Amino acid sequence: MKNENTYQNLKISQQLKEHYAMFGISEQTLAFGNEILSALEERFRQIDETAEYNQLKVIRAMQECHVSEACLMGTTGYGYNDLGRDTLEEVYAKIFHTQDALVRPQITCGTHALALALMSNLRPGDELLSPVGKPYDTLEEVIGIRDAKGSLKEYGIAYRQVDLTSDGSFDYEAIRQAVNEKTKVVTIQRSKGYQTRPTLSVAQIGELIAFVKKVKPDVICMVDNCYGEFVETIEPSDVGADMTVGSLIKNPGGGLAPIGGYIAGKKDCIENAAYRLTSPGLGKEVGASLGVMGSFYQGLFLAPTVTASALKGAIFAANIYEKIGFPVIPNGTESRHDIIQAVTLGSPEGVIAFCQGIQAAASVDSFVTPEPWDMPGYDAKVIMAAGAFVSGSSIELSADGPIVPPYAVYFQGGLTWQHAKLGILKSLQNLIDQGIVGENFRQCHIDLR
Ligand SMILES: *Cc1c(COP(=O)(O)O)cnc(C)c1O
Repeated sequence: MKNENTYQNLKISQQLKEHYAMFGISEQTLAFGNEILSALEERFRQIDETAEYNQLKVIRAMQECHVSEACLMGTTGYGYNDLGRDTLEEVYAKIFHTQDALVRPQITCGTHALALALMSNLRPGDELLSPVGKPYDTLEEVIGIRDAKGSLKEYGIAYRQVDLTSDGSFDYEAIRQAVNEKTKVVTIQRSKGYQTRPTLSVAQIGELIAFVKKVKPDVICMVDNCYGEFVETIEPSDVGADMTVGSLIKNPGGGLAPIGGYIAGKKDCIENAAYRLTSPGLGKEVGASLGVMGSFYQGLFLAPTVTASALKGAIFAANIYEKIGFPVIPNGTESRHDIIQAVTLGSPEGVIAFCQGIQAAASVDSFVTPEPWDMPGYDAKVIMAAGAFVSGSSIELSADGPIVPPYAVYFQGGLTWQHAKLGILKSLQNLIDQGIVGENFRQCHIDLR
């Protein structure tokens, strides 16, 4: 029996080699990847354990809210009494341990969810504070850091920012000084986004919120939770966030939600957001769910394991590129609080080769070649690799990077770990084939001219 198993394993590993070769991945590259992988068993076990916990959390919430087959149906028109929509919002509130939630296909993306949470809870004369440095690129126009039509600034809402200290920690003294009588909302971004600062853990976010509330108890703390959902067993709402906000085409949509965003939080904050999303007087009562409820529910059900796959991919990539000699954030061993992996490739060519490798591993649009372009909402050229079932979905295997120094690529997603592994090996093979990484898996000198 033992011999037979060994024979079987040999056969599979040989078949895998041949299969990877059909993707252009050499035997050496695969062996290098597998060697890196063999050291990650314990990390992967921990990730599976978190996924197990979060899977139970999701199932329990669905059971307690009596999710039924009828919830998977949709409404049309005004969408009054949409059972699926209203129940799903209860499910989200249970998972996030909040009083209420707004989870809608009418929230078009993460930026929209964040803009909605801000614009509905701030009034002219109020001030918004970011105590964690510059927010995500697309929020610059929402806030008015970069002039934009309809920004908070246009409505007379001021903005203040306190940067993290050089070692990435909170500048508590500067935060204390920045909070004033006008400060109404504090925005805290969990994930690093397109920056090379560390991602905040939920515990760190909790410390920051506690500090801010001590300085000013009635301030509203909003957390941009994009890419963070289900990475840990607790969410920002468990440590005092008044609003936790994210996109359904990232973690909580599980790859199946075709659109949408969510805000989970305090009843009055959610009420404000609902009246802004639809109309004063209407709020949560309207908003037909059309045909998306089935994928919202099933996606949420899959989200803990999908997030685990993406996390495994991120850790695998970190360890591979660290070994080769590229700076990676987070590094190969540190704990994870989001699914994003930054790899500093040091040259435009490196970023492009990496992204093209990810694209070539896709099921959809594998034959197209991504190029850098001027993307709306971003102020530099950006290259994006995304062969996705849901357009632009970054819980699916994807990579993107602005073409600016230090030429870092941000890699994320992977609905299955196996796909993430293929994509990472393909990106590596691409760097080898273009001479950016040597045959000995060391970084080659790059002439930046
Ligand atoms: C993705 C993201 C956003 C914006 O979401 P979109 O869906 O792209 O509009 C905001 N903040 C962070 C940290 C993100 O990762």
